[in-house]
Amino acid sequence: MFHVEHHTHLPDCQICNGSDFTHYLDLQDYFLTGEPFVIYQCTNCGLLLTYPQPKEQELSRYYQSEDYISHSNKQSDFLSRVYQRVRLYTLTRKVQLIQRYSSGKNILDIGCATGEFLARCKDYGFNVTGAEPDKQSGDYARVNYGIKVYNPLDLSTLEAQSFDVITQWHVLEHVSDLNSRFSLLQKLLKSDGVCLIALPNPASADAAHYKKFWAAYDVPRHLFHFKQPAIKILADKHGFSTIAVLPMKFDAYYISLLSEKYKTGKSNYLKAFFWGFLSNLKAKTNHGEYSSLIYVLKKQNSS
Ligand SMILES: [Zn+2]
Repeated sequence: MFHVEHHTHLPDCQICNGSDFTHYLDLQDYFLTGEPFVIYQCTNCGLLLTYPQPKEQELSRYYQSEDYISHSNKQSDFLSRVYQRVRLYTLTRKVQLIQRYSSGKNILDIGCATGEFLARCKDYGFNVTGAEPDKQSGDYARVNYGIKVYNPLDLSTLEAQSFDVITQWHVLEHVSDLNSRFSLLQKLLKSDGVCLIALPNPASADAAHYKKFWAAYDVPRHLFHFKQPAIKILADKHGFSTIAVLPMKFDAYYISLLSEKYKTGKSNYLKAFFWGFLSNLKAKTNHGEYSSLIYVLKKQNSS
């Protein structure tokens, strides 16, 4: 019968070990290759996963690493000036957010890219450490900001309980082994440490509007897509309690702008602004389901 599909190949759910998945969405890599992918949903915990997931050795085919650096610093048109302003504002806001949840000074940013966030943390007196798989970006952070940057694979060699705060800004959705990542967080954090994880929210109004064109699915670079219940179950499983879930309101505009482009082939600023605004407005009355969310997780005292 038709309901027996190729998703029988799927591995058990990394969060709840469930083996029952339903079809969620057919979509494409609209950013780069145009290749088709499918998103499946775990019927038990709601985790969404991209299928097929690229193997480690073929991942580079889906990334254009040179673009990451060039687009941030060179251009001078109106939109990049707006972008620079927004970026400085959001970076400062992130640091202030951390200060609200921790008085500690040792911070690790996993997926630090070219280091702008950690540089801002340094300005505020933090001792900063970064981890970044892309060598070119990591080198940029080292040279320009004097930041110590590890390859994420080497983080397991660091001393236990080294950090007060660990951040991952739009990073966890790229991680293939969720449980080892959370074990690592558990190990590296001090006993009263906090972890801030920013993730796109597929339960947002902009996701519902753009459907397969929603830019934050970003398959196959995003291997997983998390709604609030799934991330809370994952956190709990690894000894964290979710103490806050906070909005990232600028993401609704940025993601709507990209989504418009994927959908229509054009940069439709007015429409993007409208849907971004509407998404933020709807989130207010719909359980805070903003386009992107920051989860603040606190290490529980295990004894
Ligand atoms: Zn599950």
